[in-house]
Amino acid sequence: MIIFHLADDINQFIKTNRKSGIKTGFVPTMGALHKGHLSLIEQSKSQSDLTICSIFVNPTQFNDPKDFEKYPITIDNDILLLEKAGCDVLFLPSVKEIYPSGMSHLPHYDLGYLESVLEGKYRPGHFQGVCQVVHRLLQITEPDILFLGQKDFQQCMVIKRMIELTNLPVAISICPTLREEDGLAMSSRNMRLNKDERNTAVEISRILTMMKQQLQPGSVIQIKADAAEYLLQKGFKPDYAELANADTLALIDEWNGKDKVVALIAAYLNDVRLIDNMLIHE
Ligand code: AMP
Repeated sequence: MIIFHLADDINQFIKTNRKSGIKTGFVPTMGALHKGHLSLIEQSKSQSDLTICSIFVNPTQFNDPKDFEKYPITIDNDILLLEKAGCDVLFLPSVKEIYPSGMSHLPHYDLGYLESVLEGKYRPGHFQGVCQVVHRLLQITEPDILFLGQKDFQQCMVIKRMIELTNLPVAISICPTLREEDGLAMSSRNMRLNKDERNTAVEISRILTMMKQQLQPGSVIQIKADAAEYLLQKGFKPDYAELANADTLALIDEWNGKDKVVALIAAYLNDVRLIDNMLIHE
């Protein structure tokens, strides 16, 4: 695996490869890699000739400075995992490489409704930061296909919108959420959970499954209220337990029995914020 630290160097390398008709896949991450990330690498390897991964903990997407400070960093292990997974190129930039003119005058993206609901509502500014970093990374790596995880359901929609707004010539491939054996969605933030918290964390996926099983045409208000109540009972501080239209993310109080629906939860377990979602009617 070739490791690049400088934007110009990796861009030059990729331009040279593209000239010979090579199809490139890109997997942006914030490191602290787990099997979920590696499944994206695997997908990229199966759909492209050259797989590029980036590891960059992007300061502009953390609305909570404590979350940024505590974000796990395991770079040596990440490199080993990527080599084992057969990743071809790793981009490991500094903040200065990503934001050479500083972070105070970065672009603003018109994300509309997506920025006012769920993660947009509870993490103000977060999606602007996500767009800023992914936009810049796409300009540097110029991939044919961008691989994203369904684990960050709303983020996939936001990045799709940013790509439409910026007319970048890149396709998006959304990969399913990888889970631990008991159902807990894999996440870098799980590393911050102690043993008891880890055992409790699985309740999020259980409650999502329950929401899925309970969904029937008609009112869904009680399902959402019960889910929030269960989270509280299990010791979480929920930001939301919602059901939404999976194409638009419009929150629903009633289901017509036809529309694609997604159940989404964000909740704190002490000071660790966990998110997960499940598509209900695919
Ligand atoms: P992150 O490092 O958390 O920014 O995640 C980098 C990419 O990996 C994003 O596209 C995530 O949606 C994806 N990802 C994170 N966790 C999982 C998972 N459990 N299964 C599949 N993809 C994931």
